[in-house]
Amino acid sequence: MTSKISPHPRVRFAPSPTGYLHVGGARTALYNYLYAKKNGGEFILRIEDTDEARSTEESLRGVVDDLVWLNLLWAEGVDPKTLKDVGPLGPYRQSQRQDIYKKYADQLLNAGKAYYCFLTDEEIEKQREEAKAAGRSPHVNSPYQDWPLQKALEHIEKGNKGVVRFKTRGLAKDYTLNDLVRGEVKFPSDMVGDFVLLRSDGMPVYNFCCVVDDHLMKITHVFRAEEHLPNTLRQMMIYEGLNWPLPEFGHMALILDEDRQKLSKRKGAVACGLLKEEGYLASAVLNFIALLGWSHPEGKEIMSVDDMIQAFDISRLNPSGAIFDRVKFKWMNAQHLRALPNMELWNAIQPFLAREKMELPQDPVWQDKSITVFKPYMEILSDAIELYKPLNDKSYVILPEAEEAMKWESTKAVLTAWKELVSAHTSDYMTEEEFLKIQDEVKNKTGAKGKNLFMPIRVAVIGKPHGAELKILVPLMKKDSLIARAEKALAQL
Ligand code: GLU
Repeated sequence: MTSKISPHPRVRFAPSPTGYLHVGGARTALYNYLYAKKNGGEFILRIEDTDEARSTEESLRGVVDDLVWLNLLWAEGVDPKTLKDVGPLGPYRQSQRQDIYKKYADQLLNAGKAYYCFLTDEEIEKQREEAKAAGRSPHVNSPYQDWPLQKALEHIEKGNKGVVRFKTRGLAKDYTLNDLVRGEVKFPSDMVGDFVLLRSDGMPVYNFCCVVDDHLMKITHVFRAEEHLPNTLRQMMIYEGLNWPLPEFGHMALILDEDRQKLSKRKGAVACGLLKEEGYLASAVLNFIALLGWSHPEGKEIMSVDDMIQAFDISRLNPSGAIFDRVKFKWMNAQHLRALPNMELWNAIQPFLAREKMELPQDPVWQDKSITVFKPYMEILSDAIELYKPLNDKSYVILPEAEEAMKWESTKAVLTAWKELVSAHTSDYMTEEEFLKIQDEVKNKTGAKGKNLFMPIRVAVIGKPHGAELKILVPLMKKDSLIARAEKALAQL
């Protein structure tokens, strides 16, 4: 079959709003987006919501918000805020295009390339079982395929309901697709039987809508997941039936879990919204999914979207399955997170700290310093919660695990000396060196050493004998706060 390459590519992402945006969907959106940007084309968002029972406005809102979060913005489709149509070739929601599908179904019916079929589900099932028993292919063999259209219309007039089926008889030849990712894909001639275009309630099915829309929306390239390959054969037949040129197709390999099974949420979040909630950065999600099936020509791993646009080349799309390595994903997030300017990172962690209702200093100099200190310990934004928690005066409590250290004979002297030395410190904050010096002085004054020295001080600072390194934390704590905590600890002896 012929295909026409447009000098001005138009690609689309066509989610069905029946759930959340999955990382696989986000990757499809990203590759289409990169292709459009790289080649000066258009990226379109089409909403495939003909499954009325499963499509929801809430899901559409979620998918749109996730795409906006990822900054994969489209030129035509629905407005990200109002969800109303934008663009010259709309409507872009399939649920609003019924009349259009009807028109092309009629065209196929009139040309004898489709027919009304009145087989009941039971009859179809019976046929299938008989075919199976006789070792034949399980396709429907409809007695209605040769009915003249007029006869079928009269039958409908009388109150009978039928589906519109695409007639595959007479097309019996092997279809070959020159896939941009997989190369030559040959479909066996008996792979599909007469398939449904319109259901008996007049609702069109995905394959039919997809062809009509891709053609009318002037889509030049269709990049989508490999699981759509069987649909592509049906779509190629419909293109042929309507005498329309084929767009280019590229079917991307599946994303697999570490155990090489299809990616599932049992192993961890796969919904973009959940990744955001866990503290992954949009830039890291894009970077990571970009590399699930594509590679940079120089093997570059950490990339911005601009780097990807520059380097994107479909000849580097990999036809074999890509593994979703969660350890690598976290590592990559850490790289993106650590590359952020301090105050940007500070702002990014605020929603996470707010979850814990933390009250931290408003002083930007302190905020900047805290980020410098904690950045190397953060991989995802939510790591900030545990890092900052000890700095929140309101959450300072002496935990049961401190009990043992609080009972030692030398503890009182250690805590008293610690409190006095901190009180004598002349500025609001101390440096790491100053802290270590004070710790040494406590040792000299009390004779306590090893765990008898360190653990009580830890309790006086963070309420427990183990945990974050004090030389990192103490320089971020105001003298007054350290004194108040030491007093609280002393009061519990
Ligand atoms: N609505 C389909 C899906 O979500 C789109 C398939 C396609 O890109 O043609 O899988």
